[in-house]
Amino acid sequence: MNTTERLIACGNWLTTHTPISDPYLKKALAYLKLDTTKPTWAPLESIFNYLNQSQTTPTYYNHLERISSKFNGSLTETKYTATELSSFLSDFEHGFKKLLATKPTSRQLLNFYESELSFIALETTDNITDISAYQLIKTSVALADILATNLSATETKPFRLVALDVSGIQAYIYGINTSKALVGLRARSLYLDLMVEVLLTDLLTNLAYSRANLLYVGGGRAYLLVDNRQATQEFLKEFEARTNQWFVENFNIQLYIAIASVACDNDDLHGSNYERYRSLFTNITKALSKRKLHRYSAKQLADLNQFKHSVNYQAGRECSVCRRSDTNLTTIDERDLCTICLALERFGNTKNLAANLFYVTKTKLPNSLPMPNNYYLSLKVPTEFSFILYTGDYQPTLDGVHFFNGNYFAKTATNEVKELTELAQASQGIKRLGVLRCDIDNLGTAFVQGFKPKLAAQLNPHRPTLERIAMLSFELSLFFKKNINYILNHPKRYLPGVSRTGGREAMIIYSGGDDVFIVGAWDEMVGLALDIKDHLSSYTNHRLNISAGIGLFNAHYPLATMAELTGDLEDYAKSVVNQDGVQTKNRLALFEPKFTVAWDELLTATATNNVQAKMATLQALLAEQTNTSSGDNTSLLYKLLTYFRNVKNDKINIARLAYTIGRLNLSEKLKNDLGLKLLQWIETSPNQLQTELAIVLLVYLNREVTSSQLPLTKVRGL
Ligand SMILES: [Zn+2]
Repeated sequence: MNTTERLIACGNWLTTHTPISDPYLKKALAYLKLDTTKPTWAPLESIFNYLNQSQTTPTYYNHLERISSKFNGSLTETKYTATELSSFLSDFEHGFKKLLATKPTSRQLLNFYESELSFIALETTDNITDISAYQLIKTSVALADILATNLSATETKPFRLVALDVSGIQAYIYGINTSKALVGLRARSLYLDLMVEVLLTDLLTNLAYSRANLLYVGGGRAYLLVDNRQATQEFLKEFEARTNQWFVENFNIQLYIAIASVACDNDDLHGSNYERYRSLFTNITKALSKRKLHRYSAKQLADLNQFKHSVNYQAGRECSVCRRSDTNLTTIDERDLCTICLALERFGNTKNLAANLFYVTKTKLPNSLPMPNNYYLSLKVPTEFSFILYTGDYQPTLDGVHFFNGNYFAKTATNEVKELTELAQASQGIKRLGVLRCDIDNLGTAFVQGFKPKLAAQLNPHRPTLERIAMLSFELSLFFKKNINYILNHPKRYLPGVSRTGGREAMIIYSGGDDVFIVGAWDEMVGLALDIKDHLSSYTNHRLNISAGIGLFNAHYPLATMAELTGDLEDYAKSVVNQDGVQTKNRLALFEPKFTVAWDELLTATATNNVQAKMATLQALLAEQTNTSSGDNTSLLYKLLTYFRNVKNDKINIARLAYTIGRLNLSEKLKNDLGLKLLQWIETSPNQLQTELAIVLLVYLNREVTSSQLPLTKVRGL
């Protein structure tokens, strides 16, 4: 049996209960504790019920659904009904039969199972229901394909866990210098995502494995499971060297690949000994770091040193986008461009950035993009191609590798990508850009220790296993590469006083792994950060937190520096320690490190003691002022800001605040209410800082404010 036949056997088993005959698949299904006589469908329990278990919360289930353009994977306390199940299964059976009639490939079958069976479980013989039927089928077929390879009988460790890492991605994306910055940046980000997909497809195809053996891909990192034959190990080494040679030729030292692998057996992947699982991941991480240090051969190192002799380097010519001088340069419109940047510039347009279908060819076509190991990527239908990559809706009849892609962007009236200046113009209040960077707190620890049994001797049925880790990875990919588009398309939270309709005025530059980089109108970025945080909290049953930085910038400031400064803010948000010296993370650093707040401290509809409530109070004051006199609200806000800002150094500011309130043109009642609140806030922490931030936000939301009046004097690039 080959992969396709095994996948079909699984489908027949699930739909018509045909017994599995392939001995390898039988063995693999037994590893996963699946009863192969009859599948037992069950509501899919959320895997997050068992992650980082510190408190007892209700048991959550996934809705019985297919992957669609909606937000998938939200949780419910209710199990599906018998009627819902039978209608779901009848549709599944119908779809499977229809697909079978088209003689599907393993790719089509995997895509079909992924789209259909990601939110339903198959109950195992030890009553586990937090792994989707898709992950169970996929993992079983991956294991069976390995077991079926020509393993020597003496092989005690039949499997190899492989880690593949492409380094330099972020620096390569952000380190560019171009006028159409946003389109260029997004084109680069998409190019690198596609590059990793091409690498993985090429690697798996060469080893005669399907994508079932790919456990995880995101953020330039991938994990695969292959066999432990000598030939496989040699191929991995050769593949790494060959790919690095291609990287050296096309990117110099900007990008490089490292591949490491560790032999393992079923006990490592499914056993009850947590330490064996942990050491598997520790060992592969160590091995990967070692590979990164020895990534170039002696010959490659010698070649790399040759660049100083290149004509362009000696003449001081460099690519005007990526600044390389060691390669051929083409001059277009008085700008020198290297081959890759030229290709990317031609690739970077609205139509291509929204494209869903990519052809990978062995021949160079006009406007195609170079890909590792002498592949090319083309958007036009070529006469011959090696394989197809596609994203967006599943297409059952298409034999292609499906991948999730966070590719939301705001469009102009003529449906073009909104550039940086246009996004800044779309801001409410002051016309500035917001840059949002965020990632999950302690995710590495969650993967290694998140499913650790509470007691060492305890046999935890929800222990870390191959399929549980694959399931967790899948959930995160789904959130950051697919659901993220929905989150931007369906905004929920806004700064108080902001009214908008439609999708966010923003563009995803990068979203993958657990890492997000989005640029947009500044007020939108604050609301969006809260939307991401809210969605992630409910999606993960509050088991994973996120920290973020939001930078505020002039649209003409260099993007690379925006990325760096916002990264610093994000790091700061993660570094804040509480009174016990513990980094609690789960925070947002807004504009400058000083304004680092817990999420609930910023905007919550119900809380009375946060920035939002303070903005509302101040807005009430300003509204009343406007009604009763033509008082200058901005100068009043500045007065208040000065008092709140300086009170730490000089208590006289309390008296000044009291005096200013006393002279306001307000009703006695309002004056008393507001006065009392403001005087209380100025004297107590964290009210003092929250009020300062509330005033800053109100000033920025005021469209009449001029640059010289900006209160955030310490922020670079404003
Ligand atoms: Zn270049």
